[in-house]
Amino acid sequence: MTDCTFGTLYVVATPIGNLNDMVPRAVDVLQMVDIIAAEDTRHSAKLLQYFGVSTKVIAYHDYSNEQCLQKILNILYQGQSVALISDAGTPLISDPGYKLVSMSRQSGVAVVPIPGACALIAALSVSGLPSNQFIFEGFLPAKTSARIQALKKLKRELRTIVLYESPHRLLDSLADIQRILGDGRHIVIARELTKTYETLLTGKIKDVIDTIKADDNQRRGEFVLLLKGWEFDDSDQVISSETERLMGILLEELPVTQAASIAAKFTSLKKRDLYQWALDRQSDS
Ligand code: SAM
Repeated sequence: MTDCTFGTLYVVATPIGNLNDMVPRAVDVLQMVDIIAAEDTRHSAKLLQYFGVSTKVIAYHDYSNEQCLQKILNILYQGQSVALISDAGTPLISDPGYKLVSMSRQSGVAVVPIPGACALIAALSVSGLPSNQFIFEGFLPAKTSARIQALKKLKRELRTIVLYESPHRLLDSLADIQRILGDGRHIVIARELTKTYETLLTGKIKDVIDTIKADDNQRRGEFVLLLKGWEFDDSDQVISSETERLMGILLEELPVTQAASIAAKFTSLKKRDLYQWALDRQSDS
């Protein structure tokens, strides 16, 4: 239940590049509210100036101290309205806002979305990949070992996988995606959406990496990566839980090659696949 004596928290999407993507209702709300809570006040100053918005702006991050969160909640409890914006796109989508929205809702403050740009949705809508079901994983972990683990979990995901990536980690992440998901996985890289150098690269991961390596410009800007979901083929053997148990027992006594060789004789699986499964398991632990 919301309390009508409280103010309203508006969660306002802003453009991801092209300022003309700002929706008129967003401008109205930013002009009308008592306070704008922005991820980076200096960054948002340009946007607000462009649209002639003179509302007072304060800083808000999820890692802002408790005092800052409490200050905004108090403004709302006193009946004033607040608009939450991030540097670009929809707040809370790999951006600050979760704690504020969650606390506001818990305490009965009305939270109203003002929808607009969002890089993952824009990218998905033009990717040509299945969009009836997809998962958004945000940014992959920065450290290689954690990234590899995350990719192993995604390897057999059937739905389209959407990721955000920064320019300085792009090639490392692509190399790991190729290593774990294979050369042939179909990828779409949506770069600089809505901006002057908007580019969509699509193809097998190996070919797309070659294209990016051959052209420095393809490493500049902002990126959304979209991966086609896993498609089973005969060379991609699925190891049943029974076979996993058999391999587990054999591996307690024997080296990997021998364990794979014996397990292959008891199952219809290839020695090579069992061997790879054992190596993957070792690197997981
Ligand atoms: N809240 C934003 C949204 O709604 O999309 C995302 C913020 S997140 C901190 C920033 C990341 O979003 C970038 O590193 C990039 O992966 C993606 N991104 C943002 N703008 C983009 C654009 N114009 N083109 C491609 N990717 C973009």
